[in-house]
Amino acid sequence: EVYADYAATTPVAPEVRDVMMDIYSEQFGNPSSIHRTGRAARQVVDEARRQIAKVINASPKDILFTSGATESNNTAIKGAAYKRQHLGRHLITTQIEHHSVLHVFEYLEKQGFEVTYLAVNRYGEIDLNDLEQALRPDTTLVSIMFGNNEVGAIQQIGDIAVLLIDHQALLHTDAVQAAGHMPIDVKELNIDLLSLTAHKFYGPKGIGLLYIKPGTDIEFQQLGGSQETKRRAGTENVPLIKGMATALTLATDQMDARNVRLMQLKEHFLNALQDRSIPFEMNGNQNMQLPHIMNLYFPFSDVEIILTLLDMAGVYVSSGSACTAGSIEPSHVLTAMFGTDARTKQSIRFSFSSHMAEEQIDYIADQLLKIYEMNKERSE
Ligand code: PLP
Repeated sequence: EVYADYAATTPVAPEVRDVMMDIYSEQFGNPSSIHRTGRAARQVVDEARRQIAKVINASPKDILFTSGATESNNTAIKGAAYKRQHLGRHLITTQIEHHSVLHVFEYLEKQGFEVTYLAVNRYGEIDLNDLEQALRPDTTLVSIMFGNNEVGAIQQIGDIAVLLIDHQALLHTDAVQAAGHMPIDVKELNIDLLSLTAHKFYGPKGIGLLYIKPGTDIEFQQLGGSQETKRRAGTENVPLIKGMATALTLATDQMDARNVRLMQLKEHFLNALQDRSIPFEMNGNQNMQLPHIMNLYFPFSDVEIILTLLDMAGVYVSSGSACTAGSIEPSHVLTAMFGTDARTKQSIRFSFSSHMAEEQIDYIADQLLKIYEMNKERSE
């Protein structure tokens, strides 16, 4: 079996699991309790916050723990839009965001906000001139993802922030796929709001964070206790919080070595496809791409067929597209890049781990060759 869907989720690293298991049974206290057991749990949370802050060059108090990037994105976007309504009701994002961003903007549109969805080129990159032109005096928020989850396209977040320097609009970025693969320095990049989720970097599912730059005033959703300095009520999930901090630190420490390995694996895969004369084209620009993601167009078979046959052969990958009631809708990301084109229905996302072996990559290529040859025979 070959799992090559690491952009969907990753297994929990053994070191992370061990740290979490200890907390489940030892530091199980409620961080809000003032007795010793509570204080021990509070210490774990505080330490995790410091670890994470260090990785992204923030202050610990600027990190808000959430249930994942979906919640972080919702809080950032709704929170900024609502709180800043008196400054304007125009918002900017891109056509290729994750649904946890896009669907929030669509919801806000129904509430009377105006949203500009920036287009991308055939490599999945926005044009900074488009952003400059879209900016208006009443724009209050710009939300642009760091790296795309379907094609791996990287946006120039630093340059985007520079463009916004003299503008009131806040900059939010969904950095879910970039975390652990690219250095993230919120100060250097001048980011106001940033979302992460732990299960994309070998941490547990159901835990994420929102970085909030000091002085950034947004509205918070969850009312109740005074946890997270009254920004998000609810008892902290101590094991998951510590698991996320451990995973992020590990991934960052090993980032360079992992990235080198990932790029080798990608090259190996491209060569393996070429060696077998399987026709394909890359969706995206390999030089401006997250190291673990690659999206390929196979101009001989529909994605449903490829995914089913690969699944039967024990190869687990994705189309990146939403699957509704058994039928696969063309991906909004590929549609933004290529318009309505057969390519949007014949493309597969492969996402690798640095732990993978060349033999596993060869196995995927062998299975794709079988599918290609089967289709060739059928059409002859
Ligand atoms: N943003 C991006 C780019 C993602 O790839 C994901 C993963 O599914 C999310 C947001 C949502 O993360 P979660 O499902 O952990 O809330």
